[in-house]
Amino acid sequence: MTPTTVWLTDEPCPVCAAGLVLLGHGEPVQIAECRACGYSDRWDFTDNHDGVMPGDQH
Ligand SMILES: [Zn+2]
Repeated sequence: MTPTTVWLTDEPCPVCAAGLVLLGHGEPVQIAECRACGYSDRWDFTDNHDGVMPGDQH
């Protein structure tokens, strides 16, 4: 099994305002989870690019 990376974020839980933790598996889409109330959400980190096409250069 691949070990899951878990780290605390500065983002508050929208439900109970506790600190969310991120669960990562090396993918750009990760799960933000609240340890206090069980809330979880997907965070997509693939949206950071501005439409720059790799390989489109001379
Ligand atoms: Zn919560």
